[in-house]
Amino acid sequence: MNKNKMKKFETNAIRTQAERTTNREHSVPMYLTSSFTFDDAEQMRAMFADELEGNIYSRFTNPNSTEFVDKMCLLEGAEAGYATASGMAAIFASFMALLKSGDHILAASSIFGSTHTVLTKLLPKWNIEHTYAYINKPESWEQLIQKNTKMIFVETPSNPGLDIIDLEWLGKLANKHSLILNVDNCFATPYIQRPIEFGAHLVTHSATKYIDGQGRVLGGIVVGKKELIKEIYTFCRSTGPSLSPFNAWTLSKSLETLAVRMERHSQNALQLATALEKNAAVEKLKYPLLPSHPQFAIAKRQMSLGGGIVSFEMVGGINSGRKFLDALQMCSLTANLGDTRTIATHPASTTHAKLTEEERLAVGITPGLVRISVGLENIYDIVSDIEQALLNSK
Ligand SMILES: *Cc1c(COP(=O)(O)O)cnc(C)c1O
Repeated sequence: MNKNKMKKFETNAIRTQAERTTNREHSVPMYLTSSFTFDDAEQMRAMFADELEGNIYSRFTNPNSTEFVDKMCLLEGAEAGYATASGMAAIFASFMALLKSGDHILAASSIFGSTHTVLTKLLPKWNIEHTYAYINKPESWEQLIQKNTKMIFVETPSNPGLDIIDLEWLGKLANKHSLILNVDNCFATPYIQRPIEFGAHLVTHSATKYIDGQGRVLGGIVVGKKELIKEIYTFCRSTGPSLSPFNAWTLSKSLETLAVRMERHSQNALQLATALEKNAAVEKLKYPLLPSHPQFAIAKRQMSLGGGIVSFEMVGGINSGRKFLDALQMCSLTANLGDTRTIATHPASTTHAKLTEEERLAVGITPGLVRISVGLENIYDIVSDIEQALLNSK
């Protein structure tokens, strides 16, 4: 790992590799083994006692997941990490390992649907409380910090509203109050935004999205401060949300192309957003790097590109929204995002259906909101399909 420390992003994403075996393979092999052998009883004892480093059992570590973690740490500028079976497993582990009964989380109100469910329905079972703070009211955040607040949790850009939070400001706020700043960096990926550089202590990812980038596997990861990751590792080692070696191999290979994919996703999304902004059927279009975005100035400071997600409101609300989805000929209707294929979703009836109408409206998820995950097809075909569907959804 140290050998690669001084290299640039793309090089680290391609050249970070688990040790070669005596077969001198060029690409890393898949270690589909549940456990690892010991030379003798003394080595076995020492490894179990943490006196010797090494793989024991794939619920703890595996060379494929270690390679994926080492690579992500280099890309995010993190000290350590742990890879999990899904993004939600990483987020849940970051809560359960670091919080206890009586603690409080301050969370952005605009967050992924399942994270919202964990905060509102599950954590209260263990007496862990939360308060939601609004991204467009940053002046209110400091007052919402309580004596028992231990963590701030945010997504930026958020799913699906594309709200953007000033990470530098938030990093300072967290440090002033000795809180753990936990950032879900799923939409931007480390190629576009590195929250640790702005003061985040933990970064979580749904690797299912842009990190895989091809809609094949589920995976998650949490990276950050060594002492926090140690707690998360202890929690995961005993409770078992570990990433499978097969998925770890797939995700590590995917990182080799993350930079070129994010460049093209962002270029296509900007072109689509620019075209749709002029379309009479579209209202309130949001894209981080368009000057019309309410937090454009912050986006420009902390993101190097706009990413691949565009969201907009249909003139005509929910009925036009549904007609639009039905009129699409090429774009997929599916719950994923960050795929090579362009995907259209209707958050109010899918990812955020578990929220009440009131909760949805409070975070900007209107009935007619459509989210487009702009893929890597030719931009001409993407724009044509979406424009014809808008024309046919009146
Ligand atoms: C999808 C998603 C998650 C959850 O990830 P899974 O891999 O599906 O468990 C968390 N946060 C955001 C922002 C997401 O888009």
